[in-house]
Amino acid sequence: MSKKLKLVSLLIVVIAVGWGIGKYTTTSPTASNNSGSNINVQDNLQAKPGDDANGTDGGITDPVVANPSNTMDSSDPSESDGDGVSSGPDISSAGPDSVAVMVNKEYGLPENYKPTDLVYPEVRFTFKEKIEKRMMRSEAAKALEKMFAGAEDDGIYLAGVSAYRSQKTQTTLFNRYVEKDGEEMARTYSAVPGYSEHQTGLAIDVSGSDGKCAAESCFGGTKEAEWLAQHVAEYGFIIRYPEGKQDITGYKYEPWHIRYVGKDIAAYIVDKGITLEEYYDVVPVSK
Ligand SMILES: [Zn+2]
Repeated sequence: MSKKLKLVSLLIVVIAVGWGIGKYTTTSPTASNNSGSNINVQDNLQAKPGDDANGTDGGITDPVVANPSNTMDSSDPSESDGDGVSSGPDISSAGPDSVAVMVNKEYGLPENYKPTDLVYPEVRFTFKEKIEKRMMRSEAAKALEKMFAGAEDDGIYLAGVSAYRSQKTQTTLFNRYVEKDGEEMARTYSAVPGYSEHQTGLAIDVSGSDGKCAAESCFGGTKEAEWLAQHVAEYGFIIRYPEGKQDITGYKYEPWHIRYVGKDIAAYIVDKGITLEEYYDVVPVSK
């Protein structure tokens, strides 16, 4: 009796398995492979916010710009969940001549790097002379002119304080600070030569037209600082050292120091409330 039942059960199982295999093999056996490679393709096609940042305004031919072929690199397993937006583009895709270059206490510029397209932006500065610190790279200079004009439309009168700075000038400045405050202290507010964002020609310190509190913490909270915080991204700039991000940027809050990165990256960074370091997903600067 029980033996017969077992035989019947076995028969049912054999039939069921046979039917199952038959059903399975009549549908496409490669379906699972296809879906696997589709995931990779989608991942590779995902637009990264920085990819076309250099093409938006034109005018500058960057020999080393965000490299589109890098998006074909699917070696990063952290992106396989499809959430490619949260991890930034490869930092190596933004060389020193890219407007997306990152310079901080860990990422320096090539020895004595100097941009080849420095110009004098036609905006108000806190001084009259046509000297080095009045210069910016052409794309950033154009954006700055638009930004100053936009500010004036809102009744805000800005002035440039200090823009491009050569490695030689930075060396002189830094040595002076070291003499005054000692190296450890100097490093907290001044960049070591070769590691200043001002050397890229993409950064500028801005004040009100009266030059009060120029590049000083009392600039924070002024109507000019408020305007900058609200509007710089519209022109492709970011407040490079935001409040509360010292552990990441390596610098205290500097409401006057703005950095050109192009409109796309600026919009992304402001929208997410992040820093350039976080945009590239690099190890935070600790000191
Ligand atoms: Zn600065």
